[in-house]
Amino acid sequence: MSIKVPITVAVGDGIGPEIMTQTLRILEAAGAALEPEFIEVGEQMYRAGHSSGIGPAAWDSLRRTRVLLKAPITTPLGGGYKSLNVTLRKTLGLYANVRPCRSLYPAVATRHPTLDVVIIRENEEDLYAGIEHQQTPDVVQCLKLVSRTGCEKIVRYAFEYCRRHGRRKLTCMTKDNIMKLTDGLFHRVFMEIGREYPDITQEHQIIDIGTARLADTPERYDAVVTMNLYGDIISDVVAQLTGSVGLAGSSNIGDGGALFEAIHGSAPDIAGQDMANPSGLLQAAVLMLMHLGQRETAARIHNAWLCALEDGQHTADIYDPETSRAKVTTTGFADAVIARLGQLPRQLAMMSGTAPAGVSAAPAVPVTALYGTPVVVQELVGIDVFLRWDGKQPEQLGRQLEAICGDRMQLKLITNRGVKVYPDGHPETFCTDHWRCRFVAANAVVGAAQLKFTPVPFADVLALLHRLVDNRLYVIKTEHLYLMDGQRVFSLGQGE
Ligand code: NAD
Repeated sequence: MSIKVPITVAVGDGIGPEIMTQTLRILEAAGAALEPEFIEVGEQMYRAGHSSGIGPAAWDSLRRTRVLLKAPITTPLGGGYKSLNVTLRKTLGLYANVRPCRSLYPAVATRHPTLDVVIIRENEEDLYAGIEHQQTPDVVQCLKLVSRTGCEKIVRYAFEYCRRHGRRKLTCMTKDNIMKLTDGLFHRVFMEIGREYPDITQEHQIIDIGTARLADTPERYDAVVTMNLYGDIISDVVAQLTGSVGLAGSSNIGDGGALFEAIHGSAPDIAGQDMANPSGLLQAAVLMLMHLGQRETAARIHNAWLCALEDGQHTADIYDPETSRAKVTTTGFADAVIARLGQLPRQLAMMSGTAPAGVSAAPAVPVTALYGTPVVVQELVGIDVFLRWDGKQPEQLGRQLEAICGDRMQLKLITNRGVKVYPDGHPETFCTDHWRCRFVAANAVVGAAQLKFTPVPFADVLALLHRLVDNRLYVIKTEHLYLMDGQRVFSLGQGE
């Protein structure tokens, strides 16, 4: 008998307990060598005052087992609560979110019978840093943070995943035509690392047209690697194309642990009715078994699951009078899977107990950032001062700032929501109460044709800030402007 592997299990909220009970029943019936430790996370813990929905005892279990099988949880609405999912991913360093999506046609109706795509999503950075501030009565901000190390880890993981799983093409999606620094970095790293994987066809698409094509002709894609927010959206789009969001599982992989879950939420609208589809969580459990090296058991469960679907045993979300034979409950579906353990599907591609199938997650390959952040010379050449200013005429603010900025700094421009409004703004531009005022050294050349920044001592910046405050201007935030190895690494204002 094989040694049982301790895993942490969170039964979740809403439909969570129902689908977890049935998933664990199937795992046990299939002979999975697992020793579950149950933890409490989610709604109850939020209500008990844990702002991220998790308490110290749960962290202890996770540190011990390093593997979490988690049912969906409900994030209470209202301020003060942080997403448990984001907290778990970031605290445990689970940088890769892998969602394999494959159509189950003809067992499950879909307009895309040959769809077979894996979405590999960066899981820790981007807008999910969750750093938001209200800066003026009119304007709020969310910081998008992207690191070279983070990009390298996910991009290399994606290429490695393709090699291990026989995926021949990897598509990178970003919005680097607009976000040249953040998304531009992700795209650049994709091209750099891609040179080491000539055996894999590579392409880049802007996320908007990429999503449209993915929704229209998913058959032309094999694997997609993308940033956190885009990946969150497109993985739901693709999962839905296979027939139901209730069918897909996902893995969250890091060097120090792994989390497996269904892609859907806690579905409070159908909770307690024994009608939810447990397939998403079951698929997550299959991915977990692959991760733990219990491949034969994973294949046994996966094949029995395919047989149940082929035999038309369908929960309400995928029930179709044309193809289904019985509308089954959550428990009834689990019974159908258990009854078919040991059988092989007739039409759907079966999973082998030895080779990794398209539905499995890559084992956590140790993926380290090889290029790393290069050592660079970093020079301060100016400052963006963000002001709350309730006036309406940029000319008035511009003249006031020019009069007080002193002889060591000069005002280069003012933008409002990124668009230049001074000097030479357009009267049509709508202005909020949030003004970005860019100051550079007095001897910098700011003419459009020969932009040339020169170093600014930090003392000059501090003196400028003093003068602004002394003149009753309301400084709400500052951003330093740097050259790195002589290159400008901040965006120009629209129209600068
Ligand atoms: P949802 O995924 O829970 O439900 C969307 C729709 O899909 C509903 O009509 C639901 O009945 C249906 N559905 C979902 N899973 C199903 C299943 N297994 N079988 C049959 N039908 C299913 O999304 P939502 O309603 O936007 O979110 C509900 C709650 O879940 C929210 O509190 C949200 O924060 C949370 N949530 C949690 C996770 C997670 O824990 N990973 C993910 C997404 C949403």
